[in-house]
Amino acid sequence: MIQNSLYLHIPFCKQACHYCDFHFSTNLKTKESVLAQMHLELKNKALLSPWKSATLKSVYFGGGTPSILAASELKELLEAIKSLFSCAHGMEVTLEANPDDITLYGLNSWYDIGINRLSLGIQSFHETELKACNRAHDSHMAHSALEMINASAFSNFSIDLIYGMIGSSITSWKENLDMAYSYAPSHISCYILAVEKRTVLDKQVKTGKVTLPAEQIALQQFADLRDWAKEHNYEHYELSNFSQPGRQSIHNTHYWSYQPYLGIGPGAHSFDGEQRSWNVSNNIRYARGEAGDYENLSVREKLNERLMVRLHTSDGFILSRDLDPLGLDPDMEARFTFNMNNALERDKIIAIPGGFRISARDWIVSDRIISDLFIED
Ligand code: SF4
Repeated sequence: MIQNSLYLHIPFCKQACHYCDFHFSTNLKTKESVLAQMHLELKNKALLSPWKSATLKSVYFGGGTPSILAASELKELLEAIKSLFSCAHGMEVTLEANPDDITLYGLNSWYDIGINRLSLGIQSFHETELKACNRAHDSHMAHSALEMINASAFSNFSIDLIYGMIGSSITSWKENLDMAYSYAPSHISCYILAVEKRTVLDKQVKTGKVTLPAEQIALQQFADLRDWAKEHNYEHYELSNFSQPGRQSIHNTHYWSYQPYLGIGPGAHSFDGEQRSWNVSNNIRYARGEAGDYENLSVREKLNERLMVRLHTSDGFILSRDLDPLGLDPDMEARFTFNMNNALERDKIIAIPGGFRISARDWIVSDRIISDLFIED
């Protein structure tokens, strides 16, 4: 049975966070037409291979800010998915939500329509850090959202936090982790604050308006995060992801396993195992039905992409699972074996049964190690 994951990109937000380079608009005028086009896209894609014969094991409402939609709009999308696709029993259905959208009534409605996992964009509990990056919520809203989640039927929820934040310190980061823990999340995702091109943050850093903590601080915060996770029984299973035993994100694990996934909505990407495709990142053009673009991946590109996702996980790269299905030609295989042996000899990677991995403490600085394993053109 082919298993699959479905991602829906809801491209609307209340206000723009200074660091964000995702596709979203703060103008909600196109909401109805974008949603209508998403329903149409679901209908069309459900008829195509490989999606038509696949069973969905996860649905993920991401964005943007999916919690900006009314529960009735989310319900219509979920009902359409369930009528068009074969869905696994107990399918994971995640909703990304921002604290300022959380109400007890809303939580109950989401649970009733079939959402069974929340991913909450807290980012920080510190007022100054939230303000510095222009989040729509404040510290009080963050706490109150989590109190409501604890009082609701949702036991499976993730908290997003950012380290290397403007104004953050070793102490403020530990406080963030402890505050998150006091709400007993089943999962925590922690990202480093990245300065993406053409964002407000990029401009602020270039003009000296904002100074980020020194790289050493962010690296120490990552090391402290790992120690903290161990003490609190969270398994570090991917560079940015930590879970209680058995509570890993099914949806994201599917991406890191390099399995096909279908993306619906403006700017959403899909991967069918051979081809990567993406929708236009413009709400008006998407709503008009304008097509996106695609690229066919060569064997070499697929191998390099697999190395990149696999080596950021505790699972590592397993030759029979990750290399053999690609069918490398003898020359490519020889080059890969050379790179692999070279990295093993230099202790850059660790041998495990059937393959190799990178030590979790090095994941944050592992891009160079991984690119040394790539096969060049
Ligand atoms: S809420 Fe999320 S998607 Fe929207 S601007 Fe902020 S970081 Fe970006």
